Formats: sequence, structure tokens, C-alpha cells
Amino acid sequence: MSKPAPHRSNTARYHVVCRDCPTESVERTGVAAAQMRSEHVAETGHRVVVGALSSE
Ligand SMILES: [Zn+2]
Repeated sequence: MSKPAPHRSNTARYHVVCRDCPTESVERTGVAAAQMRSEHVAETGHRVVVGALSSE
């Protein structure tokens, strides 16, 4: 029991999901998520959504 599961962390996470291919990613900042999204959109023209996951 050295590492707790990342389940109970206080930090928000941003789930970046492409609607047009299986690409997805979880980022720790909105900036990283937005960058990931704009890069994928620029490269592929796919539709990518970012969902904020806030844990309690
Ligand atoms: Zn895609």
C-alpha cells in the first residue's frame, strides 16, 4: 500500500475524447487538454470534445 489509487485525488482532470477516432487522453490541466484537442483537430479535422472530470 505505497501508492493510493488516483481515484480520490482532489485535482480536476480533463478527458479529451475524439468523436471520430479512438483517440482519447486524460490531461491534468485545461491548457494541456485544449492543446491536445487543437493539435488533433489541426492534424485530422476530427471533432474532439473535452470533458472536465472533477473529483470530490
Ligand atoms: Zn480523431
